[in-house]
Amino acid sequence: MSSEPREMLLCTTCETVLGHERDIESRNFTGKHGPAILITYVYNITMARPIRIFMSTGWYIIRVVSCAGCKKEIGWIYLKVQQRSQLYKLGKFVLELARLEMIIPPAPPTGVAF
Ligand SMILES: [Zn+2]
Repeated sequence: MSSEPREMLLCTTCETVLGHERDIESRNFTGKHGPAILITYVYNITMARPIRIFMSTGWYIIRVVSCAGCKKEIGWIYLKVQQRSQLYKLGKFVLELARLEMIIPPAPPTGVAF
């Protein structure tokens, strides 16, 4: 058991756990409020109705995603994309870094006697 401790993603407002660092696919995204991440899996969220939006890379159908703990908007999920080059975004989430806190959970006991 020598796996590195992995970062957890927490909501900055209510500290609900939203996801894990291992699921981050890109750190070079831009959200509505600044830098964002593309992540394949999140939890403890609620999703709004699907809406169509237009970006420089074509139209998308997205659902706005909010923290289940405090209901604050934290990003969105891509449901449909227009351009073939954007297909890699399908079913993934964009989360605003300003809404996230990254912590490293305490390491599990190693079994070493003191
Ligand atoms: Zn929250």
